[in-house]
Amino acid sequence: MKVLAILYNGFNAAVKEPRLLGTVENKTNGLHREVMSLLVSSDKEGPNSDFEKHLVDAEVVITTPFHPGYLTRELMEKAKNLKICITAGVGSDHIDLNAAVDHKIQVLEVTGSNVVSVAEHVVMNILTLVRNFVPAHEMIERGDWQVSDIARNAFDLEGKVVGTIGAGRIGYRVLQRLVPFDCKEHLYYDYAKLPVEREQAIKARRVEDIEEFVSQCDVVTVNAPLHEGTRGLINEKLLSKFKPGAWLVNTARGAICDTDAVAAALKSGDVWNVQPAPKDHPWRTMKNPLGGGNGMTPHYSGTTLDAQARYAAGTKSILENYFEGREQEPANVIVGHGAWATKAYGQR
Ligand code: NAD
Repeated sequence: MKVLAILYNGFNAAVKEPRLLGTVENKTNGLHREVMSLLVSSDKEGPNSDFEKHLVDAEVVITTPFHPGYLTRELMEKAKNLKICITAGVGSDHIDLNAAVDHKIQVLEVTGSNVVSVAEHVVMNILTLVRNFVPAHEMIERGDWQVSDIARNAFDLEGKVVGTIGAGRIGYRVLQRLVPFDCKEHLYYDYAKLPVEREQAIKARRVEDIEEFVSQCDVVTVNAPLHEGTRGLINEKLLSKFKPGAWLVNTARGAICDTDAVAAALKSGDVWNVQPAPKDHPWRTMKNPLGGGNGMTPHYSGTTLDAQARYAAGTKSILENYFEGREQEPANVIVGHGAWATKAYGQR
């Protein structure tokens, strides 16, 4: 049985740090079993890549959102033996999920494995932006010291309105972590309403219209999966409804934002619409008129060492369940045998 894993290269860091489990070098240690031939590579682009060459006879494909092998309908049609795709992490938008339904290919992810890691990153990003941290630090590295240039664009989070698009595992945890900051309000926009007790626990109020929602927020954080209903959701029209000077933190998926519209309006996050992002991607260098407002990082919020331990263990467990013919954990199943198994990837 052929198992194909597309992971990112860890190079020297992976050699020095064995806990970097999601890398080609450390290949989610312990994954290997007698019954399978495991091929691990980072080479994923184009018809001559290991990904496309080995997909044709692989039964199991393991991919990660941090270095996604894009599994299109066209590739699935060539992958005659493919039975199961496992996402080592959370977010399976790099797989054509509708095509997986049609081809009866199961898609599973390690649900919950890195949601705390991302929620912490979002809180960090919100504080980084609201407090104008990046230009302040850059000023220090440059050898300058001009407090007023930083202070004129630095605020407290206390008293601000923070809203999340998507109040699932990550969105909920973001608002939960913000409770002690005494924000003016916590809002959420999600077609799935939270039970009242869960809303109260994180002081959240649901706003059903997205334009109304963004127009009330000082900070908008995006925590919904990428699917037909969220692709390009943050576009020029919606951005025009944001409060002037609002902050946008998108750690969900880059393609939820329109590249040029966001660059024109400016802000932050750690996810990109093409990964790795090209050197000249406008989000790398965009700045607001005061020289700040950009907290972009590579896509790493959900791949901390703690998260890697959890998603490597989760990947192994999904694989073992598959080998042994055992029932999978229902929360991990995105696409079951020829049918959607989650409501999180859009209303159907
Ligand atoms: P989840 O399934 O627990 O929650 C997603 C929520 O989004 C659900 O409540 C769903 O109803 C809501 N939603 C879906 N479509 C929506 C829409 N059009 N408008 C508003 N709400 C909508 O998922 P999660 O664990 O919170 O993860 C969310 C996403 O975050 C993942 O799908 C993934 O894309 C991203 N993620 C990023 C990283 C990272 O490293 N940056 C790591 C993990 C997850």
